[in-house]
Amino acid sequence: MTDTHYPHLLAPLDLGFTTLKNRVLMGSMHTGLEDGNKHQRLAAYFAERARGGVGLIVTGGYAPNRAGGVKPFAGKLTTRAEAVKHQRITKAVHAEDGKIALQILHAGRYAYHPLSVAPSRIRSPITPFTPRALSSAGVEKQIQAFVRCAQLARDAGYDGVEIMGSEGYFINEFLVTHTNLRTDKWGGDYSQRMRLPIEIVERTRDAVGDDFIIIYRLSMIDLIPQGNSWDETVLLARAIEGAGATIINTGIGWHEARVPTIATSVPRGAFAWVTKKMKQEVTIPLVTSNRINLPATAEQILSEGCADMVSLARPMLADAQFVRKAREGRADEINVCIACNQACLDHTFANKMSTCLVNPRACHETELNYVATGTRRRFAVVGSGPAGLSTAVILAERGHEVDLFEAAAEIGGQLNMAKVIPGKEEFHEMLRYFKRQIELQNVRMHLNKRISADELIARTYDGVVIATGVVPRDPKIEGQDHPKVLNYIDVLSGRASVGKRVAIVGAGGIGFDVAEFLLQDGESPTLHLDEWLAEWGVVDPSVARGGVAPGGMQPGMPARAVTLLQRSTGKHGAGLGKTTGWIHRATLRMKNVRMISGVNYERIADEGLLITYGKKHENPSWIDVDNIVMCAGQRPLQELQAPLEAAGIPAHVIGGADVATELDAKRAIDQGCRLAARL
Ligand code: NAP
Ligand code: SF4
Repeated sequence: MTDTHYPHLLAPLDLGFTTLKNRVLMGSMHTGLEDGNKHQRLAAYFAERARGGVGLIVTGGYAPNRAGGVKPFAGKLTTRAEAVKHQRITKAVHAEDGKIALQILHAGRYAYHPLSVAPSRIRSPITPFTPRALSSAGVEKQIQAFVRCAQLARDAGYDGVEIMGSEGYFINEFLVTHTNLRTDKWGGDYSQRMRLPIEIVERTRDAVGDDFIIIYRLSMIDLIPQGNSWDETVLLARAIEGAGATIINTGIGWHEARVPTIATSVPRGAFAWVTKKMKQEVTIPLVTSNRINLPATAEQILSEGCADMVSLARPMLADAQFVRKAREGRADEINVCIACNQACLDHTFANKMSTCLVNPRACHETELNYVATGTRRRFAVVGSGPAGLSTAVILAERGHEVDLFEAAAEIGGQLNMAKVIPGKEEFHEMLRYFKRQIELQNVRMHLNKRISADELIARTYDGVVIATGVVPRDPKIEGQDHPKVLNYIDVLSGRASVGKRVAIVGAGGIGFDVAEFLLQDGESPTLHLDEWLAEWGVVDPSVARGGVAPGGMQPGMPARAVTLLQRSTGKHGAGLGKTTGWIHRATLRMKNVRMISGVNYERIADEGLLITYGKKHENPSWIDVDNIVMCAGQRPLQELQAPLEAAGIPAHVIGGADVATELDAKRAIDQGCRLAARL
């Protein structure tokens, strides 16, 4: 066992009254397990992460009162009876030698219910409910609720609390004139607006004693136009330190900010420089956050003196063993969070239980387990896209003998399309992970092998998993065999050269991906932080309030003129994830993409693509382009199924080969893992 790989990351952190075993904080993440009585599942979920060696866990947000809940019936900690139930969680974590703090989250005007309260009666742009402005006595009651919640957390056995003061929630709303128009002692000049968090921290410290961790999550860059100036943020940080906080965690951007802060297109460690600025201003430990998904990235951030700890929230969903693998020199075995949000935050917004695209066991620890098999059997898995890869690896992990057949020269299927899209570079990590798992689990890999049904039958497998994926749908447009026409596979694989003026047929996930691919020549801004910050209009908060560039966004020149078409009416990308769809639309808008809805594709010819509108096929017009790229969806490829079944061999069809519509890696991996768990 060696800590030489990541000496900064794995160094203990002495907090005086207690010591954290390393510099990894599992950041707060709402999973849905907080709501209702799911304490047993939560205990299993957190215990697994504690066993994986994380230094300090922070729970998802718990409201200190009903008004502060993020939604109706959101998890809260307001009574002794609730505190007793939480003991199940704290005991499970302590049994694994872990430490855990409870996050106290008052949603303020971001609450998704009609009882919301805020400093002033100003509705947020992301919620339909207008909050009630609190009276002075009402503010006092909220403070008391925070303090009582912290006391109950202590009674429940937590090692500390995190007071959520960022991301535009209740406390944050008092700090800026954007949301605080009060004229009493809680509003007015900054010394009055910052009174609330100081009172909360001071009174919490008095109530919980000296030997209890208080983390304050401070909004270090608001990313909204009337956000705090840097001087104001520093003033608050020092006051929070003086009020008795143990640690300050970094919050980046209000939820209503129009800058991506955690999506996959955000560069790794994109905001560590903000925490580094604060390091010069306070003496208590600082945690930095956002898009830190690899031990090497974390180590670099810490070694450069940006912070004392790193917060990893989603990466802890992706791999509970993150810290242990780093410590044991097995970083290449880490299942890396690709920052897609598809199974975590997008689920939260859809009121569904969170999990993880790359790890469907996340939040399902009590029901999805890969138990070693008693009988070793022989399986063939055909197709090495996400569905086939996950099935093969887990079947082998459970002790089965597995042959994985792939017609192409490399594994990955559609993942190889995704990895070349600017801003989706993280897909390389997913492929790296699977390659390593194939080696570790002794999956027999057969590349360049399009296996036939006859061969499979001759090999007398105990079962065959058909994960042969999809082929592009034929849109049947007149003239589609014209040389101008390309399909997305030729474009993304680099086989086709594409002209400067392009029309894309189909505005689903792949149509958007192809548009972003064609707009960018050379490496994407995701790999160049300064370029990315300029593109989204982010500056040093000492230059402009909230870190919002006065000159706005500075997008790079688009490499091509792109028109993105769909037959349906309504906004483009409506089927993309809630937390990322807006980013893709904003990217296309900033690169002047023409988005046209409600079209009929009439004909393709030398002039380009002829479209009309509506049922009556009106207003014909030619889109004069050099190329037309077909992104019209997919159909399943499952031709092996019938002959195998006729030969009496159990055939299991999964992934795109099963259902091609709405196919994505999330469903493919989930289906693969669940099938492999029960075979
Ligand atoms: P898709 O999302 O189902 O989109 C297919 C597009 O083709 C639609 O815009 C559809 O729009 C159009 N279309 C359907 N039939 C057509 C026809 N006969 N002629 C012309 N146009 C037709 O499929 P996809 O874009 O191929 O993506 C496949 C899946 O991969 C997606 O569902 C998605 O889950 C996943 N993916 C996700 C992302 C992501 O960012 N999350 C990225 C890439 C892929 P109209 O019917 O309105 O014309
Ligand atoms: Fe990360 Fe995507 Fe998993 Fe969320 S669903 S934890 S973003 S890999």
